[in-house]
Amino acid sequence: MTDLELQRLVEHVSLESFGKQFKHQATFNSRLRTTGGRYRLADHNIEINRKMTEEFDRSVLIGIIKHELCHYHLHLAGYSGKHNTPEFKQLLKAVGGSRYAPAVTKNYKYVYECTECGLKYHRKRKIDVRKYACGKCRGKLKLIA
Ligand SMILES: [Zn+2]
Ligand SMILES: [Zn+2]
Repeated sequence: MTDLELQRLVEHVSLESFGKQFKHQATFNSRLRTTGGRYRLADHNIEINRKMTEEFDRSVLIGIIKHELCHYHLHLAGYSGKHNTPEFKQLLKAVGGSRYAPAVTKNYKYVYECTECGLKYHRKRKIDVRKYACGKCRGKLKLIA
């Protein structure tokens, strides 16, 4: 998904669930680690963790967008828009936004490294290093994590 597609999606969710236009910018921020998104008080823009689109399905992304839009619309309406206010809790519940971003988990368990060229392989399952060699240089693989 591109930033432009995200922008369109946020605009759509805003109109559909809040009945109000989203007039600022929504972009992906790959530096966000554990949070699903962020509403920036200073410029009213919304940032979404790209991992949320890579590791979870669309409903999770929509839930996060709704959460950030609660901050957005409350803030623009003159409220603080903080999590612990009754306005935030009420609005979040009304639109069905997510309270927390899901934890981002690694989608691999094992890391192998080629002993010749150093290329790394991330795998969900263990691989038999006696049977499989590096796809690039045929070097031996070694389990490093
Ligand atoms: Zn929040
Ligand atoms: Zn190699």
